[in-house]
Amino acid sequence: MNKFRNWLYRFMIGRYGHDKLNYFLIIVAMIVSITSGLFFRGNMYVSLFVYLLLTITLVRMFSRNHYRRRKENGKFMELTRPIRSFFKQIKRNVTDRSHKYYTCPQCGQKVRVPRGRGKIEITCPSCRHRFTRRS
Ligand SMILES: [Zn+2]
Repeated sequence: MNKFRNWLYRFMIGRYGHDKLNYFLIIVAMIVSITSGLFFRGNMYVSLFVYLLLTITLVRMFSRNHYRRRKENGKFMELTRPIRSFFKQIKRNVTDRSHKYYTCPQCGQKVRVPRGRGKIEITCPSCRHRFTRRS
């Protein structure tokens, strides 16, 4: 048992581990494998795709090339930024009871305004563009 623990310890030294991209790959694999039974009737190519995703996840997890893995994750985070900021804004609007969050239609800057003031004119703090919203 001790020998195995030592081996495992040595095996795990310098391994990359988890990041956001790996979580994303696992979630996609799970969703695809659950829905494949419903819509693709267990299609072989869909199963292969799921195994491919899980293989990539494992390879990345046990990789010693941290530089490349971090670069891949950075690319992933960059590509998904618009989607993540979209959901972040929805979450903020749901959880923050005293403010509302809007996106400037001209430059995309996030603007926070106090809630419950009726229709207001908002001036974007970064580009000075004016737009009207209900607070
Ligand atoms: Zn703006």
